[in-house]
Amino acid sequence: MSYYKAPRRYSKERNFGVERQQGFASDIVPRRPYDNRMNIKGPNKWSRNLVWTASDGNMPRKNDCTYALSSYQQRKDAAYGQRSSYASYVKGWGSSDKGSPKSKDCVCKFWKAGNCKKGDHCSFLHSWTSLPGMVMVAALEGHKKGLKGIALPQGSDKLFSASSDGTLRIWDCHTGQCVHTIHLQAEAGSLMSEGPWVFLGLPNAVKAFNVQTSKDLHLNGVVGQVRAMTVGNGMLFAGTSSGSISVWKATDTESDPFTYLTSLEGHHSGEVTCFIVGGQRLYSGSVDKTIKVWDLNTLECTMTLRQHTDTVTSLLCWDQYLISSCLDGTINVWACSENGSLKVTNTRRQGQSVHTLCGMSDAEGKPIMFCSYQNGTVSICDLPSFEERGKMFSTNTVGTITIGPEGLLFTGDKSGKLCVWSLAGTKI
Ligand SMILES: [Zn+2]
Repeated sequence: MSYYKAPRRYSKERNFGVERQQGFASDIVPRRPYDNRMNIKGPNKWSRNLVWTASDGNMPRKNDCTYALSSYQQRKDAAYGQRSSYASYVKGWGSSDKGSPKSKDCVCKFWKAGNCKKGDHCSFLHSWTSLPGMVMVAALEGHKKGLKGIALPQGSDKLFSASSDGTLRIWDCHTGQCVHTIHLQAEAGSLMSEGPWVFLGLPNAVKAFNVQTSKDLHLNGVVGQVRAMTVGNGMLFAGTSSGSISVWKATDTESDPFTYLTSLEGHHSGEVTCFIVGGQRLYSGSVDKTIKVWDLNTLECTMTLRQHTDTVTSLLCWDQYLISSCLDGTINVWACSENGSLKVTNTRRQGQSVHTLCGMSDAEGKPIMFCSYQNGTVSICDLPSFEERGKMFSTNTVGTITIGPEGLLFTGDKSGKLCVWSLAGTKI
């Protein structure tokens, strides 16, 4: 595998002010199957200093939640779910659920409307999730159209969300209130954060905002609507509606922290929809039904993966596997062979479009994956078994999922509803 040992051309560059956590997934290298060591290494994924807590049960509340910052000591003591603030409501929820013959797959429509008279005797779920211990902490309403990205930058107590309604909203994590609505004069195509930077994808540009220095940049060098972004090897990548991928290099220069490097043209024949970085590779998915594999050192396209029959919607790297989802209703698991090529080892047929994937490690370091389906459910399953642990429910298709600190999760659906979830009680 000399392929992976090439000198890293950009390895000495600044990496957006942070050491990038490899976390959930990272290297796709041939090792023995289902070796989980990669997922446990490094700091706790949830070791950031922000904790959102709810003061009561699992009822979704609109913009009126109480959030609190945890002290360092709390954080140290809290291997998730052990905090008393969580324990009180999580226990209540868990006990009412335990052993009851509830339909795990259907939320009570009367409960949703706030008037189910059956209470504990109702045979449908009185919750937006069937995963024991998981709670919806808040439903943040304000966006009028689908969410394109949700970001909680490092060191910030503000949550950013961008929508195709042409606004960027900034939410206060303590109050759950929207504190700023920025009218973009354009449709937002994507949003992500890396360290203190928030990147917003727009038509023909990327906006970069630093929450620590308040530096606000307009990055040129893009043609088309930016639909997907990622960072890797000290570079920022933006994929567009035209199929090109623009690349900027992170530098140490304060006046010019992102230098335009190049645009990768002529590879994807349609919109770039998703990225993932694993090891020394960048993977890009497209409406052209392919996944392209790029060498992060040379920026050369080294492989084209053709198995899907519709738009590739999301990519994940886990252990030595690449996982891809598609509007054709399949999830493919790709494994790296000895000669470096990627082959499908498992195809999961879901019966409906899969819109996004998201991976994280649970409190015990076990990998779990979230899969969003057309009908508004999000399945939470174990890897590598794909065994379902539970579901989350939404009225509309969830198009974006972002992992937060301390077992928090943010979802955005196609109607513009942003939900904050806590997995903190999963293991109680
Ligand atoms: Zn009911």
